[in-house]
Amino acid sequence: MRILTDQPPREPDVRGAAAVPWQQAFKRAIRHGAALLNYVGLEAADVGFCDEAELDFPVFAPLEWLARVRPGDPHDPLLKQVLPTGDETVRHPGFGFDPLGEQAATVVPGLLHKYAGRALIVVTSACAVHCRYCFRRHFAYETLAPPAETWRAAVDAIASDAQIREVILSGGDPLTLTDASLERLCAALQRVPHVRRLRIHSRLPIVIPQRVDRHLLSWLRNTRLRPIVVVHANHPAEIDAAVAAALRRLLDAGITVLNQAVLLRGINDNVETLHWLCECLADLGVLPYYLHQLDRVAGAAHFEVPVDRGRELIAELRRRLSGYAVPRYVQEQAGQPYKQPLA
Ligand SMILES: *Cc1c(COP(=O)(O)O)cnc(C)c1O
Ligand code: SF4
Repeated sequence: MRILTDQPPREPDVRGAAAVPWQQAFKRAIRHGAALLNYVGLEAADVGFCDEAELDFPVFAPLEWLARVRPGDPHDPLLKQVLPTGDETVRHPGFGFDPLGEQAATVVPGLLHKYAGRALIVVTSACAVHCRYCFRRHFAYETLAPPAETWRAAVDAIASDAQIREVILSGGDPLTLTDASLERLCAALQRVPHVRRLRIHSRLPIVIPQRVDRHLLSWLRNTRLRPIVVVHANHPAEIDAAVAAALRRLLDAGITVLNQAVLLRGINDNVETLHWLCECLADLGVLPYYLHQLDRVAGAAHFEVPVDRGRELIAELRRRLSGYAVPRYVQEQAGQPYKQPLA
């Protein structure tokens, strides 16, 4: 049996990034490749930086995230998630623009109903970070993401289908919206008697942990709906002390907290990294829910890990971890009734 060295969560290296209100963290985020390289002390050539990739999907990286990047390390696993590179401009057969068939699953603008019992509202196109591998990087938000006023249509469609027991808020990242808007949407949803659970898919507790503030916790605590927050961390270095504290605040408020990760080449495709990610999450009381096989979106082919390798990694995780701490390795396939288990 292998024992991991006991690495505590990284302390935030704030480098001038003392906690500010989350809205301000958005405003001061880095939005240009050149500024990003400068911040982490690297040259474009060291990391294969590419302007053309940046034009296709702009850089967006808050200082709270970048404080966890090791300066001067071209292989840093957090940097790689946000830095545009030349690999993104290479076209690969099989990597398309709507890999999940989301256009087809759209019921009314912004409402996706693919799976029984739950419906997903794309509440915003904004995110707290731009992940280069994102399957929604080419999402037609202009036609699908409704402005707040037209949520009405989504809520009406949910109200007219008594099979829907769980509503998922997604995006983009729903927690980029103000608590006042979210509370209004939640109030409308909880007036629908058959809706029992509210699930929020958000990277914000990981990216800008101060987003988990008393306003957010207050409306989540007060809803009749069972709240579930699914966060998204791919690497244990994403979980510093401030993130751990934010996750604890969610759990202390009685919220179920799950994590989803994407299997990414050169970032977390080794057993030590995945093992330590799951250990950190389990220590905090956050269950590793999914490990996603990369969605085949144009521009992300260089992040793909072969499924056979993913299966080997899961087999090794099963040997090392408590059963509940092993994520389900899945792949979303257009037209299938659930995310397909791969291991
Ligand atoms: C992933 C997804 C869900 C949630 O699926 P679970 O397996 O319940 O996590 C629901 N709706 C859509 C459109 C999705 O893409
Ligand atoms: S936070 Fe989620 S939706 Fe936003 S860019 Fe990253 S993976 Fe995509």
